[in-house]
Amino acid sequence: MNLSFSNVLLRITDNVLNNATHVNRKDTILNIQNIVVGAFEVNCFIVTSARQHALIIDPGSDAVNIDQIISSKKLMVSGYLLTHGHMDHISGLSELHAKHPAPVYLHQADLEWAFTEDNAMPPFYPPPDKPTQMHTIDIEDGQVHSVDGLEFTIITTPGHTPGGVCYHFIGQKTLFSGDTLFAGSVGRTDINGGNSKILAESLTKLVSLPDDTIIYPGHGAKTTISVEKRNNYFLRGPS
Ligand SMILES: [Zn+2]
Repeated sequence: MNLSFSNVLLRITDNVLNNATHVNRKDTILNIQNIVVGAFEVNCFIVTSARQHALIIDPGSDAVNIDQIISSKKLMVSGYLLTHGHMDHISGLSELHAKHPAPVYLHQADLEWAFTEDNAMPPFYPPPDKPTQMHTIDIEDGQVHSVDGLEFTIITTPGHTPGGVCYHFIGQKTLFSGDTLFAGSVGRTDINGGNSKILAESLTKLVSLPDDTIIYPGHGAKTTISVEKRNNYFLRGPS
């Protein structure tokens, strides 16, 4: 069934945003559950607050399995955070959205093609179904969103796709990096819309984050900014 699970509890004891007293207080706890979905082994994440509200990051496939977790834990879906439009990251969205309608965060530059034939891989993947009555949130670099006690900042990171973004939970020193940054590598730029020079500019934004920022990529193992600065050729550069 191609599933693996891990639970991560992040206890916040410092670096709480002074101006965000309504969210991310000391001892705010995020529960992050990772489900590996689909043939491309995408990391879907269910990010939950203590109040049982959940953000679903990259529901790329296996909607039934994701739904089982949402339902068994009696979670209320507050939003779908899509790191980019590629079909392996969004093909489970429509089915989940039908059962748990909530706003969809997807950059306009990827929304333009995400639900079209341009995002198919015949004969294996048809274009992702577009959720009916989808309410899309316009996202831009630097925006701070506060959703049911969960606060995150948008970092636009084009290069893998034109509308690629990372979701930064500053209070928890946690970044969901999609296919922009992996442990030891970065996302491809040799497919439609990819651009290696633009990706390099995006990576400079990530390098400037605190070293102890935990990175949850769209594929593969988690890592930290510190580790990637030391070991990742694409961040370290030619030496
Ligand atoms: Zn991708």
